[in-house]
Amino acid sequence: MVGGGSVIVVGAGVFGAATAHELARRGWSVTLLDMAESGNTRAASTGESRLLRCGHGTDRWYTDWAWRARTLWRELGASVGEELIVDAGVAWFAHRDDGWEASSAATLEAACIPAERLDCEAARRLFPDLSTDDLSFVLYEPGAGVLRARRCVAALVRQAIAYGARYEQAKACYDGAAVHVDGRRRTADRVVWACGPWLARLFPALIELRVTKQDVLFFGASAAWRTPGVPGWVDYDMAAYGLGDLDGQGVKCNSDVEGPAFDPDTGERVISPDSERRSRGYLARRFPSLVDAPLVSGHVCQYALTADTEFIIDRHPEHEGVWLLGGGSGHGFKHGPAVAEHVADLLEGRIEPYQRFRLGTRAVAGALRTAGGGVRE
Ligand SMILES: Cc1cc2nc3c(=O)[nH]c(=O)nc-3n(C[C@H](O)[C@H](O)[C@H](O)COP(=O)(O)OP(=O)(O)OC[C@H]3O[C@@H](n4cnc5c(N)ncnc54)[C@H](O)[C@@H]3O)c2cc1C
Repeated sequence: MVGGGSVIVVGAGVFGAATAHELARRGWSVTLLDMAESGNTRAASTGESRLLRCGHGTDRWYTDWAWRARTLWRELGASVGEELIVDAGVAWFAHRDDGWEASSAATLEAACIPAERLDCEAARRLFPDLSTDDLSFVLYEPGAGVLRARRCVAALVRQAIAYGARYEQAKACYDGAAVHVDGRRRTADRVVWACGPWLARLFPALIELRVTKQDVLFFGASAAWRTPGVPGWVDYDMAAYGLGDLDGQGVKCNSDVEGPAFDPDTGERVISPDSERRSRGYLARRFPSLVDAPLVSGHVCQYALTADTEFIIDRHPEHEGVWLLGGGSGHGFKHGPAVAEHVADLLEGRIEPYQRFRLGTRAVAGALRTAGGGVRE
């Protein structure tokens, strides 16, 4: 089925909104449903910023997808007349000569994606202060940066509507090949369930996800810490990430260690003292001048984790036209528009589902985000 078909997309986080946008752009008749406002506080896509980095160790797939998504985010920004990507670059702090960063450097080079291996002295010039005594080198991706997350999702929904999609705020229930909304059975040629952390509840027999509480903290700092200027950064081995002060929100410095189990509907969204302690411990190690910086804001988000941190993109085994999309695993945002192209190709029968994104049980691995995948609270 190429263009011209009808589709219901349930969930207007980044995955669902990007899918609705891409299918509407291709001429599908699209209905996008979300039980809350798109980008609402309980969704995983909430918040103002997400890192867009292409380094994914030896994995060429996610590397290429990130670069493709970067192009698509730029095109979307141009079409809505808004800056969606902040060209800040991303710095990877390498503790070893033969770790994740060295693998990423080789993969980026093979993919012709710009990356520079900086010695510690050169790396220190990227930040107002940077402690490098435990680092071997810094891998810098000049083409990477920061996505303005809330604006990105809003732009996807707005553009989808401009292409003819209908947006409805309503809770959808699974009803076989159809969707049940407000007592009515709704049908379409295709249905895509892109429900983030709620996906496993809707399809418990098919989807295994761990949903964890992740605290996001911002610290007050001087103008020298503004992003752009200061790049985004990831410390893979120490499971930490952040960026400078974007739009006066404060310097973002967070642990990527997987938090406690979390219920996205009923969980209290209160920052834990342990998270502040962990962030301050990292500031003391890496950016010592910020160790006593005031905590200026914070919010709680959740990871929807597959065992191997690969996404879920597969057909329902009993209903040919029903597709399940999710398992962002704490690194899905940047890939949104590239994932959407893939999903649209699947719905149009141009490609078959990929084994790596299959439903069902997967072996435990946790390499695609940071080493935090192997560390649990
Ligand atoms: C703290 C944190 C930091 C992160 N950092 C990065 C980063 O730097 N870079 C990066 O690329 N990624 C990052 N991520 C990951 C990224 O944000 C997620 O992978 C992505 O947002 C997941 O989007 P989603 O569309 O799958 O889910 P969601 O955004 O949760 O969207 C699901 C939507 O489905 C709706 N819904 C659920 N059930 C129903 C129903 N029955 N009926 C109707 N609607 C329903 C919900 O209301 C929600 O709006 C981070 C995530 C977190 C939590």
